[in-house]
Amino acid sequence: MSVYNFSAGPACLPKPVLERAQAEFCNFQNSGSGIIELSHRGKFFSPVIERAEANIRELMNISDDYAVCFIQGGASMQFAMTAMNLLNGGTADFVDTGVWAAKAAKEAKLFGTANIAASSKETKYDHIPAQSEWNLTPGAAYLHITSNNTIAGTQYQQLPKAPAGVPLIADMSSDIMSRVFDVNDFGLIYAGAQKNLGPSGVAVVIIRKDLAERTADTVPTMLRYSTYIENGSMFNTPPTFGIYILALVTDYFKEMGGIAAIEKINNAKAAKLYSFLDSSDFFASPVAVEDRSRMNVVFRTPSDELDAKFVKEATAAGLTDLKGHRLVGGCRASIYNAMPPEGVDALIDFMKEFARVNG
Ligand SMILES: *Cc1c(COP(=O)(O)O)cnc(C)c1O
Repeated sequence: MSVYNFSAGPACLPKPVLERAQAEFCNFQNSGSGIIELSHRGKFFSPVIERAEANIRELMNISDDYAVCFIQGGASMQFAMTAMNLLNGGTADFVDTGVWAAKAAKEAKLFGTANIAASSKETKYDHIPAQSEWNLTPGAAYLHITSNNTIAGTQYQQLPKAPAGVPLIADMSSDIMSRVFDVNDFGLIYAGAQKNLGPSGVAVVIIRKDLAERTADTVPTMLRYSTYIENGSMFNTPPTFGIYILALVTDYFKEMGGIAAIEKINNAKAAKLYSFLDSSDFFASPVAVEDRSRMNVVFRTPSDELDAKFVKEATAAGLTDLKGHRLVGGCRASIYNAMPPEGVDALIDFMKEFARVNG
């Protein structure tokens, strides 16, 4: 049976990428060794990390003012690392649009003041607060946003701009490379790879190089952005397997025609699913229409019991991992770049039938 995996992360990867990794797994490019057995400083791995970086630069149109780093510890470590390097006892502004955004603010408090400029917590993070209502700190060390809220299912449709001179930092873990935007509007972008780019174990950090000069001398070597920039992410042993898969995934994104082409497909997939939800009197979306995520589609049936039944029966039908996050319940379909349109079609067909039988 073919399976469509709607997991929020680690999430499905393009089939051709998995097949290529399998084919090369035991004997990488006739080296006689697998990719995870080869030295990170040897002649086989060096072109792999170089290709991963070059692909990311090309796909996102990143200028030389920015460094692309591969760092372990996931997005959660970036919550601390951003503040550790860039806050220095000052004040940073946070837009609290979900659980991950709140965690980022919590870590920042260890290194300075985290001002919650706006929050949608009181309405269970069902929308993104309008930018006109943000209570920003003049001269803030930075402004932090979460571009896509994986758990609540909201997303900035237009990415905001920070006031002049204030670096904009974005946690893009669940929508990086899903749509076109201008990297020059940001001071720093970070993303755990396991949603849209590859396996867990590596985070991609894109940082304007001058910002790395702000780090205090007391920050440990492995937690300084400058260490990764100056050593090409190879101060120590990098997560070689994750970077290898990242290179394959970004090769694949290029074959798909780049981010603009992928964005079109993503928009069509999400539009189809939301349009079905809107037409249904059985399923409902709890999210403000204008802020709906094109990556994580959150929905509910009329009851918790039916939610559970839906998830169970969908799994049996080959549509897996549709359970909502444990903090919010309900159902969630994550439809990242690697989810083919046929997967969304199959999901809608199944939802129609489930509503007919149980409605
Ligand atoms: C998954 C996720 C995280 C946490 O990522 P880890 O790599 O597990 O630390 C942070 N932010 C967002 C938006 C996420 O989707």
